[in-house]
Amino acid sequence: MGFDRKAWRRAYYLTHREHELALAKVYAGNNKEKYKLGRQRNYQANKANVLEQTKAYAAAHPEQRRQIYRRYHAKNVYKERQSRSRYNLEHREERIAYVRAYRATEAGRLVAVAASQRRRARIREAQGTVSTEDVRRILSAEKCYLCRMRFTAKRPATLDHVIPLARGGKHEVANLAAAHLGCNSKKRARLENPITGQGVLI
Ligand SMILES: [Zn+2]
Repeated sequence: MGFDRKAWRRAYYLTHREHELALAKVYAGNNKEKYKLGRQRNYQANKANVLEQTKAYAAAHPEQRRQIYRRYHAKNVYKERQSRSRYNLEHREERIAYVRAYRATEAGRLVAVAASQRRRARIREAQGTVSTEDVRRILSAEKCYLCRMRFTAKRPATLDHVIPLARGGKHEVANLAAAHLGCNSKKRARLENPITGQGVLI
């Protein structure tokens, strides 16, 4: 029998395991780019397999999967938001049609009713501090506080909560301003000015 190189390698590895692992680590540290390329090549070659394994792992470890997703989300909120709004812009018509179709269903109708009830409840909670006179005064503003354009008969002033009620804003004079209906609904529950994109309102 000749020299069994494989068996010798295995025996050597087992007796020098720590040392071998340390060497491999140093090598990997010095060749990060190469390793990255290797991993990418490996992934491309075994894509179907890798995806299947990932899926199986995710299904078997729901809690870990949630944690990984949460970490990723926290790191990429900004990126996600940008790609979402790009997608929304590109698919505007489809989205409008989708929302309209959903609202027409019983489930969609109930969601809308619940949202409007929540909103009215929030206003009721904070009620009492805003008089009809206050509202009249706020609505008599010349310009929309969001786009700075004048109000017209066609685009009249509507009451807007500067800090949205959904974000903890109060229904009180200090938190009310006049805005076009369009500007108002573009803002929705965000804190940024939808027209200028700035983070601080007024
Ligand atoms: Zn406006």
